[in-house]
Amino acid sequence: MTTSVNAARSSPADRAGLLILLAGLVAALLVAFLAVRHQTEQRATELVEQGTRLVKALTAIPKDGLTPAAGRPNPLAAVLRAHGNADLAYGLVTDPQGRPLSEVTAPGLTPTLLPLAADKPAEWFGHRPVDSGVAGLQLVEFHGPLLQDGRLEGFVRVAFREPSIGFDSRQIPFLAGLALPVLLLVPLFFFMLRSQLRPLQDVSRRFEILATGSAGDVAARDVVSRFGRFLDATENRILELEATRSDAETSIKLLGYKREKVESALETLPEGIMVLDEGGVVVFANPKVGPLLSAAPADLINKRPAEWPIDPAITRALAPLLNAESGPSTHNTDFHPDNDQGRRVSVWALPLFAPRDTTRRLGILVVLRETTDQMLAGRARDEFIAHVAHELKTPLSNISLYGELLRDEPDLAADTRIEAINTVCDEAQRAAGLIANLLNISRIEAGSIVIDRQRVRLGELLSDCMDHLSHSGSTHALRLRVDVPPELPPIELDKDLLRIAINNLLTNAAKYNRADGEIILAAEETDDHIVISVQDSGIGIAADELPHIFEKFYRSADREAVSRGGHGLGLYLARQIVELHQGQIEVASQPGQGTRFTLSFRKPHVLLRAA
Ligand code: ADP
Repeated sequence: MTTSVNAARSSPADRAGLLILLAGLVAALLVAFLAVRHQTEQRATELVEQGTRLVKALTAIPKDGLTPAAGRPNPLAAVLRAHGNADLAYGLVTDPQGRPLSEVTAPGLTPTLLPLAADKPAEWFGHRPVDSGVAGLQLVEFHGPLLQDGRLEGFVRVAFREPSIGFDSRQIPFLAGLALPVLLLVPLFFFMLRSQLRPLQDVSRRFEILATGSAGDVAARDVVSRFGRFLDATENRILELEATRSDAETSIKLLGYKREKVESALETLPEGIMVLDEGGVVVFANPKVGPLLSAAPADLINKRPAEWPIDPAITRALAPLLNAESGPSTHNTDFHPDNDQGRRVSVWALPLFAPRDTTRRLGILVVLRETTDQMLAGRARDEFIAHVAHELKTPLSNISLYGELLRDEPDLAADTRIEAINTVCDEAQRAAGLIANLLNISRIEAGSIVIDRQRVRLGELLSDCMDHLSHSGSTHALRLRVDVPPELPPIELDKDLLRIAINNLLTNAAKYNRADGEIILAAEETDDHIVISVQDSGIGIAADELPHIFEKFYRSADREAVSRGGHGLGLYLARQIVELHQGQIEVASQPGQGTRFTLSFRKPHVLLRAA
């Protein structure tokens, strides 16, 4: 029973074949219809050309040549017969009023004599549709004038059947030529398709048998169940891949975002940063690299160090760091950009490893930094240490020398003994003064000093300083004077620091003075300032040295000044102290005549106003 049902049911391949057959036929019919329509239109165009040509030819014949005369056949009929068009419906020669003079008609047709306007020459030539009087038959009439010496003698009218869309016997060969390949090809295609679909048909039939359980085909069932599992697994795999793809997309976006963040951070770093890949090619360079390597970062990207457009000396210096083969064996090097020994750039090369595999090197991170300041600071520190060591060495070796003399020679003459003791004291004082200055300077420079402002009576403080100088034993025959008006108002200053500054100035005034010279320590008041001055009548300072005397460790090159010893710190410290009080220190000097230092401090009301 089931078998008969199956047998009765057409197979999918058969149905597909039938469909293809039908589609082929429809296509063939469509093509045939379009071809016939095209042919009809072409015939209509040809007809218009033919009719117009024929009428023109007929109008060239004199009227008498077209009208019948006694004893001779109708010439119009002969002309039209010679033309030989089977679609010719009629030919007419009429007088100007439309009365027929000669007529040739196809069997069964009667010409419809539509009038022609004899007074409108523009309408004499032309064609128009006319009714044939027979159902379904349309005619096209072509007409032209018969002229004799410019005079209208009549009209020639020739009508043809209008071509219609449809088959006629003349189109049979054309249609047969079209239909034959279609009819041959469609079955051929159908059979080819059928043979190609047969394996699928078998599989489909087997599935059907299994589905209905009509046969115990265990192997096939196994195949089907495996196929089902395979489909499930494939679907799962597709879902997994979809999930992985969406994860990957998210990761890519995240990485892009992180990369942008990292890049913008690297761009803003004050150091020049470059990243080289495993092959030693630059993949990133921030703008700071430009001035350090004297090359635009864009000119370094995608290039190996050997191709960088920079000074070859720098390339050579960097080569051991950036050699991608061996990795950065040296981690740091320095070079002088533009061969300028006054500038220094330090370079660090750090290997970049994969985050999860520290044995896999991804490239090199190169950090460039201008270290000119450190270089200069280092040099200054070295010079400072050398200088201080030298300055301390002299007094200490003198102390040691005279100390040994005093110890080893108990029978020294009294004056030699006193001289030795004085030298030891002087040198110890000198060393102590240097150390005290150094300590004060270092406190001021470190910013650890706090000014302790107190109301200071300058008269007392300056007299005190001068007393201290006169007791130091360095003034001998010098005339010392303190000149402070009694009405001078007290001023708020750090007394101890101010004392250090004035002592340094007084010591210099005594040291660089003439043997019988003079020192005047004075103070005075202006509207806004209290001005303290230290004036001596000593050797003076050359004009070209004046701008430098407040520099740290600056000492005059003048022979006389050099002979009097010193450390080049006294004036530097004095200026630091004055500036801590927001005051000003100035110098005016005449070589050979003397020097005057002035310290001016703003009065409280000026300080308040400034605040
Ligand atoms: P120094 O310990 O050498 O005196 P200072 O800093 O006190 O160091 O002075 C710096 C230089 O200024 C001195 O070496 C000296 O040449 C010059 N100088 C300072 N004060 C005077 C002065 N009153 N008269 C002449 N020269 C001076």
